[in-house]
Amino acid sequence: MELWFSEYQTKNVKLSFRIKEVLYTKQSSYQKIAVYETEDFGRILTLDDTIMLTTKDEYIYHEMISHVPMLTHGDASRVLVIGGGDGGTVRELLKHPVKEIHLVEIDKEVIETSKKYFPTISCGLSDPRVKIYFEDGIEFVKKNTGYDVVIVDSTDPIGPAVGLFSAEFYKNVFEALNEDGILVAQTESPILFDNLVKKIYKDMSSVFPYTNMYSAVIPTYPGALWTFTMGSKTINPLLKEVSSLPHIDTKFYRRELQKSYFILPPFVSNLISDRGV
Ligand code: SAM
Repeated sequence: MELWFSEYQTKNVKLSFRIKEVLYTKQSSYQKIAVYETEDFGRILTLDDTIMLTTKDEYIYHEMISHVPMLTHGDASRVLVIGGGDGGTVRELLKHPVKEIHLVEIDKEVIETSKKYFPTISCGLSDPRVKIYFEDGIEFVKKNTGYDVVIVDSTDPIGPAVGLFSAEFYKNVFEALNEDGILVAQTESPILFDNLVKKIYKDMSSVFPYTNMYSAVIPTYPGALWTFTMGSKTINPLLKEVSSLPHIDTKFYRRELQKSYFILPPFVSNLISDRGV
């Protein structure tokens, strides 16, 4: 009998993978965690039946959420990741000369699952520069400061992640950042969730002097075209020269394109330039 996993990306759209094996399922205190071995996309991690990553294409998301802000900053030594319990973002951040990475993940079980089933993704979590907190990122940023870069590598705005998509949260991150600090958040699909993308941009730009969006094609995320939104206190990402910064090994991110990543398809720039929702 054929086995399939399907994610309902909307009520009317689903993406399905033929699977070889169900490797793990567990209901944690926060969400249903599952790991599947698929025919064509390697191993996949789902939370509440939503794809977090596949071993086939995870590098696109993890490189783009990490290297674009890190190169924009150019000298980040203290970085905060909110969510990101699979470890992919931390793995990429460790390619930079950082001194300290704080990972704030609400669900310990996600980290345990990734350590067991995704060793090539979770490999950086035991690095001595990484400190892991099992806490709610929304509360954490109210009490902790001194970060050069904050990355919000969260689930969609459902359940515990709702508050990570709000102007109030962005204000707290602004306070948690150093003078030249930068925030980047994963900000959903402009094709399927246009009103949400618009609202996120509006909220972040009400807090940060420079707010810029960039995008990447991530085949296994809803709508395939995915956005990231950057809020910056003093550095204008459109002017930042990155050619002299240390080399990093990547599979998707290209340093030559650093400034061009912020040039959006017209339908996305039109979407966010209209400030009404
Ligand atoms: N790349 C992924 C995506 O966009 O599908 C995100 C992956 S990562 C696994 C997301 C993590 O955010 C989850 O492990 C979840 O537990 C965590 N999370 C959700 N809300 C959170 C919160 N308020 N504070 C800290 N972590 C949170």
